[in-house]
Amino acid sequence: MDFSYAPEDEEFRAELRSWLDANLPDFLDQGEIGPPQSDTTLRTMQRRQAWQRRLNEGGWAAINWPRQWGGREATIMQNVIYSQEMAAAKAPGIYNANGIWQIGPMIIRWGTEEQQERWLPDIINADHHWCQGFSEPQAGSDLANLRTTAVRDGEEYILNGQKIWISTAHLAKWGLFLVRTDPEAISRGAKHEGITALIVDMEAPGIECRPIRDLTGECLFNEVIFTDAPVPVGHRLGDEGNGWVVAMGTLGHERVGTAGLSIGLKSELEQMIAAARQHNPGALHDPDIRERIARAWTQIELTRLLNQRALSKVLKGEKNWPEVPLAKLQWSHLSQTLAELNLDILGPVGVLAKGAPDAVDGGHAAHNYPWQRYTSIGAGATEVQKNIIADRAIQLPRR
Ligand SMILES: Cc1cc2nc3c(=O)[nH]c(=O)nc-3n(C[C@H](O)[C@H](O)[C@H](O)COP(=O)(O)OP(=O)(O)OC[C@H]3O[C@@H](n4cnc5c(N)ncnc54)[C@H](O)[C@@H]3O)c2cc1C
Repeated sequence: MDFSYAPEDEEFRAELRSWLDANLPDFLDQGEIGPPQSDTTLRTMQRRQAWQRRLNEGGWAAINWPRQWGGREATIMQNVIYSQEMAAAKAPGIYNANGIWQIGPMIIRWGTEEQQERWLPDIINADHHWCQGFSEPQAGSDLANLRTTAVRDGEEYILNGQKIWISTAHLAKWGLFLVRTDPEAISRGAKHEGITALIVDMEAPGIECRPIRDLTGECLFNEVIFTDAPVPVGHRLGDEGNGWVVAMGTLGHERVGTAGLSIGLKSELEQMIAAARQHNPGALHDPDIRERIARAWTQIELTRLLNQRALSKVLKGEKNWPEVPLAKLQWSHLSQTLAELNLDILGPVGVLAKGAPDAVDGGHAAHNYPWQRYTSIGAGATEVQKNIIADRAIQLPRR
């Protein structure tokens, strides 16, 4: 395994760093962006929109996309460097993460020229927000069990059914949805067939978003109910019935992406220690806390090496398990471990929520602790990842 970076990768890093140096402090100094918002989520989204636009101006919003569409055709190594630099600089999140990392690549791969011209500039420039509508009450880990129907009626599909857990659907103008165009496929034991990918205008009639309050008290995800909702046939991505293949490309993207998620964990641990020095220095002399910090640091390093191994296999075109599912498990375990450690290391001020006079870093620790529970569900639930490892990697016998 060669850990060194090629000269063109170092150039890529230097270019990104100098762009961040020239743009990020200036962006952060702006304070409130756009019209005043009392709602925290809307304020965050407004900020993310402005940041993504700034990134796009510099050609840094969608590094994986073809140059023709504003991307850089970045290599896997450059993706790692991008994640490292963004984490080190503590850059804000982007407005259209789903759009840039999953839906955009689907439109590039499967969309017609007309669809590409219509929607790719919209996604990359953060003109509108995009959501991804896959899960249903009986179709989460077993996604192919989805039952929202789309029946063709002339030049439209008519949608009926229920999606659930759809992040930011209530804020989105567009969504990429998986629907069932062949309702017989499940009963004939071919549930992966007869699924179609549609781009849905969330403002069209017959669509209702019902926000669901999560463990942190925020309403970020939704039930989406379709009642005779019309979607033009021209909004179909790929062929009718080919939605599973269209979607798997993007989920694969998400899964490889999770292998890189742990990149930010080291700087998170360092920031936690820095905050403890300032707000609760006594904790850093507690032998139990010291051991937990050392353990977390060691695990982060181990995960980094695991990611390097996954990466090396991907670059050599080898099968990337068990490293990718293992790295996903490590990421969720460590994210939750760090969230818990953060509360203990900060002591009483750690539980103060946003808005409290002495809250540290906008109440991040108190919010982050319940929020991180999602990491053992999102991007492949823990038990399902363990099944993949048992089945494909160590090939445990089945009963
Ligand atoms: C914060 C958050 C944001 C989300 N955003 C979106 C979004 O934008 N769009 C979208 O489409 N979805 C979204 N989801 C939904 C997410 O994709 C699903 O929650 C996930 O796929 C799991 O499905 P489920 O909730 O139906 O749980 P289930 O699949 O019903 O799983 C329930 C439990 O059973 C276990 N389990 C399931 N199958 C097996 C098995 N074969 N063997 C052993 N154990 C098993 C699971 O590990 C889990 O512990 C989001 C979820 C979260 C938490």
